[in-house]
Amino acid sequence: MPDILVVGSLNADLVVRAPHFPEPGETISGDDLQIIPGGKGANQAVAATRQGATVVMIGRVGNDSFGPELINNLKQNNVYTSHVQIDSHSATGTAIIVVDSNGQNSIVLSAGANGKVSPADLDAASFPDHKMLLLQLEIPIETVLSATQRARESGLRILLNPAPARSLPDELISLPDFILPNETELSLLTSQPVNDISSAEKAAITLLARGAQTVIITLGAHGALIVSKEIIKHVPPFKVQVVDTTAAGDAFIGGFATALLQNKSIEEAVRYGCACGALATTRFGAQPSLPTKEEVERFIA
Ligand code: ADP
Repeated sequence: MPDILVVGSLNADLVVRAPHFPEPGETISGDDLQIIPGGKGANQAVAATRQGATVVMIGRVGNDSFGPELINNLKQNNVYTSHVQIDSHSATGTAIIVVDSNGQNSIVLSAGANGKVSPADLDAASFPDHKMLLLQLEIPIETVLSATQRARESGLRILLNPAPARSLPDELISLPDFILPNETELSLLTSQPVNDISSAEKAAITLLARGAQTVIITLGAHGALIVSKEIIKHVPPFKVQVVDTTAAGDAFIGGFATALLQNKSIEEAVRYGCACGALATTRFGAQPSLPTKEEVERFIA
């Protein structure tokens, strides 16, 4: 049985590079459209298999040309897809992404079939057969909560990436072993400004007060911060030439999760995740930019 169960989103990313983001009402010219497999759930599933983990995914795609392509893409990346359904009443989840000349991205998300992933869909999996659950917030929150409760009962380690940013019920703060937000997500989660290491630490401590176990904040070009009752530790970034930051967080989580499964310490696993995230920024797109185990090992060495 695969070690990791991912319950999450699959998207078709429609990506255009442009010199800058358009202002409201402005039309600008971009490069040719690229259609790239994405969705935080699928990205993190692929990020983990590229690091050598075994992964099965629960999710839904729509009844259109993108759906079967996304399932095939997961298969090609060694993710088990038996629990990914084609929802005949929905469109496939889509992300409309503009990448500017600095490599920053701006995204409009259309949930489509991802919005239909229900607690009943979880019955497809036997939770006790897996070691770890990976969750994000591109599917309904009731499904995220139900998966978390089942995983807790079955003794799985739970990693919650609270993305895209939103507030959360206390249970989703206290039940996961790890909450992994970026700065924007942490700010929304805590209603506090987060713009540097010390404000991230302060905000994360309020999550500990709400019952969070370990909070790991990814800080983009500033690396990552681990905050728990036992340790507060900044892990420095790896220096890279940034092309496109899409999926840096997903690469981080796939690498971090795989390293934990290999019994690395939290600090070692975060460092490994930072290497995965940094490498992902050196290439264009979501899944195509996710590094392999060999690439990460060479990079760290
Ligand atoms: P997200 O994509 O969710 O916003 P981040 O931008 O925080 O996540 O990136 C995730 C991780 O990837 C960071 O913790 C960091 O280790 C690495 N990373 C991201 N951007 C850079 C960068 N410009 N230089 C070096 N590492 C980076």
